[in-house]
This record gives sequence, structure tokens and C-alpha cells, in this order.
Amino acid sequence: MSKFGVCQLCGVNGKLSFEHVPPEAAFNDQRVLESDINKLLGSQDLINDLQNPTGRFKQRGAGNFTLCERCNTTTGDWYAKSYINFVRAMFYLCGSVPPDVTVTVECTIRPLDVFKQMLVMFCSAAPSTFAQKHPRLVRYLLNRESRDADDQRIFISLYDWHNSIALRQSGLTVRMDVEGESRLFAEISFPPFNIVMTVGGGGSPDPRLFEVTWFKNYGYRETVPVRLKLSALSVTSYFPGDYRTLDELKARASEADAESKGNE
Ligand SMILES: [Zn+2]
Repeated sequence: MSKFGVCQLCGVNGKLSFEHVPPEAAFNDQRVLESDINKLLGSQDLINDLQNPTGRFKQRGAGNFTLCERCNTTTGDWYAKSYINFVRAMFYLCGSVPPDVTVTVECTIRPLDVFKQMLVMFCSAAPSTFAQKHPRLVRYLLNRESRDADDQRIFISLYDWHNSIALRQSGLTVRMDVEGESRLFAEISFPPFNIVMTVGGGGSPDPRLFEVTWFKNYGYRETVPVRLKLSALSVTSYFPGDYRTLDELKARASEADAESKGNE
């Protein structure tokens, strides 16, 4: 099966190839269920619908026809392997760190390659025009040696394996925080990580996420030990950046129920 369209990285119109997000070898080789968000938005019994999701299975794993063959192959050769090694080294943590506990881990990785792979994943998961609006980002990603990063920032946490019931890939979302500041971000939640990218230099939507934007300060293929502070956050709802557990969601639902009864 082939599809044609505009590559979400280089912007060239042509034949598109299936880009796995995250890479197939980073445990993304099983079928995934793509939930029907509209059904969830109109749900009368959200907790039940979240626990028993319906939708369409994607047999190849998470991803889409988003990149041209050239971008798929070059970024795959340049960055994906380093990201896969990082994921494999960290994977055991997502099943062993208790919820909301923060661990400090040290591992030896290629930080710049990992950073660029994450950005490629976001170009693929974000709205199709995202990369075209950020030409500096495109130049940065399509030149493996480039150190001229754009203003995107990346934050990560562990994906809490035991308490999560969903995967998430959101395009750009705007959220207002309590101070009225709006944050524009995208998220990819897939074991072992929840990864958030903010644009325009914005901060993290959740203080428990650990910033890794400094990965950009290394050279291509440079291998160094890094120290990361990772919390285990669960993914249960379809709201990007929402790490409430199912129990917290249930508590909120019964509170809302009690409030509406109180108002009757
Ligand atoms: Zn391309």
C-alpha cells in the first residue's frame, strides 16, 4: 500500500512511507488500538469507556504515512538507532519504578541523536504543517551535524506501566495554567517514556517532567554518560499532559457527580 502527499519533514510532495512513532525497534512492533476520540468526548461513562476502549487496530504499530522515503531512511539511519538503544536501556524502569516516585539514573547515550530523533517523531505526530512553519527545525534535523537548534524544548518522564491504560500521540495542544499562561505542546506517550515537546520556548505542562533539551549541547554521535531524574507517570485519559491515575479520575468523577446532585 502506498500513499502520496506532502512529507511532514522536508515538505516535498510525493510518495510517503509509514513512519513508526516511536521507531519499530523501540517496542513499537505490535498492533495498537487507535481510539475514537469523538466517542470519548461524547462519553456518558468516561471511566468505563477509557477502561474498555473501542476503535481501529493499526496492525503495524503506532505511526502514519507522514514522511517521504528519503526522510524516513536518512533520519532512521542517523538518529533512530541511538534512540532505540536509549529506550532499551531504560525500559526496565517503566515497570519497576512505583507511581510518582522519582529515580535518578545514569546511562551512556548519544544525547544529540536522541534529541533529534524525538523531534523527528514530533514532526511526524504533529499537524502536517508543523515542520513547514519551523524551517530552522527542518534544517537542523535534515543536517545531522547541525547544532543550530530551534526553540522547541523536550521534557520526559517514565511511562508508568502498571497504572497506564492508554497510549497517546497528540498534535499541538494549548493549555492554560492557573496563572493564565498558555502553553503550546505536543506529547508522545509510549513505554518507557512520556515525551512532551513545547514550542515557542514554553515550559513544561507538568513539573514532574524532566527537561532534556540540554541533549542538544553535544555533537552528532558523541557518546557520554548522562544523569536523568525520572518520575513514573500514568496515562489513562486522552488529555495530553494529563497524568492522573484511574483512581484520581474516578475520585474526580464522583466529586463532580456529588456537586451536580448538590445543585439539583
Ligand atoms: Zn521528506
